[in-house]
Amino acid sequence: MMSVMADSDNETTEVECEECGYVWQYSGQMWRATCPRCSHKTPTGLKPDEFDDE
Ligand SMILES: [Zn+2]
Repeated sequence: MMSVMADSDNETTEVECEECGYVWQYSGQMWRATCPRCSHKTPTGLKPDEFDDE
């Protein structure tokens, strides 16, 4: 189980791109992040409480 200890904007999440395998520290709260390398939208593992990205 993964747990998030705070709701702070300063939280970072390690995201691995499912397209190219690039790993980076994502500092936002969206449930998907755009890969800095290939621009693929990759799930961050965060809760999908922001749906205006579709
Ligand atoms: Zn990528």
